[in-house]
Amino acid sequence: MVKAIIFDCDGVLVDSEIVGLDDVVVYLAEHGFEWDAKHLISTFTGMRDDVFSAALRAEYERILGRPASDAEAHALFEGLVDKRRAKRDTLQPVPGAEKSVRAVKALDGIRTAVASSSRMVYLDRKLKHCGLWDYFAPDVYSAEAVAHGKPAPDIFLYTAERIGIDPADCLVIEDAHHGVAAAKAAGMAVWGFTGGGHCFEGHGETLSEAGAARVVEHHDVLAAMLGQIDRQ
Ligand SMILES: [Mg+2]
Repeated sequence: MVKAIIFDCDGVLVDSEIVGLDDVVVYLAEHGFEWDAKHLISTFTGMRDDVFSAALRAEYERILGRPASDAEAHALFEGLVDKRRAKRDTLQPVPGAEKSVRAVKALDGIRTAVASSSRMVYLDRKLKHCGLWDYFAPDVYSAEAVAHGKPAPDIFLYTAERIGIDPADCLVIEDAHHGVAAAKAAGMAVWGFTGGGHCFEGHGETLSEAGAARVVEHHDVLAAMLGQIDRQ
């Protein structure tokens, strides 16, 4: 029985995965990378910064044909972050996100939370910018607080503990296959969501393969389904 709905933030509530993405692809190409937008989304979406930056450094060293210094690796990563930061004022909620959140909030006896790979300082800023913070606070949790980022189950187990709900009674809404895998590893039910601006053709199949029980393409549909979750 579902007693809590746990939302991922980026790509589910906040349409952040697409922000600055084209600029990042150009920036990486200037440094010899052959990573297009689809590769970036399918490989790294939902990962914590430290996991992504390690993968970035490994590929950079392959391109250079030698180890990169810490300064070089840091400069590469910070340059990439700057590209996204430059476009952060364009950030929008995922279309219809508030509708799904309101549908869940209208239910009796269902807890809600946000569990994200994003750092807390950014989570705070993004959710407030999109008018969604007050629906969840104080139950907004960052993977900064746990040992291992997604696809490890840590952030979801931590969230369940904080809201006092058994993991088996939690339903997670996730847009990334690493997030779906993390929720499954935590023993939770998980639905894939493909309504974010970054989701390309075939994204839903990827989420199903990772273990999503169903895949929902838009918040209009998700809101209707979540609005009846206490009767399922
Ligand atoms: Mg996400």
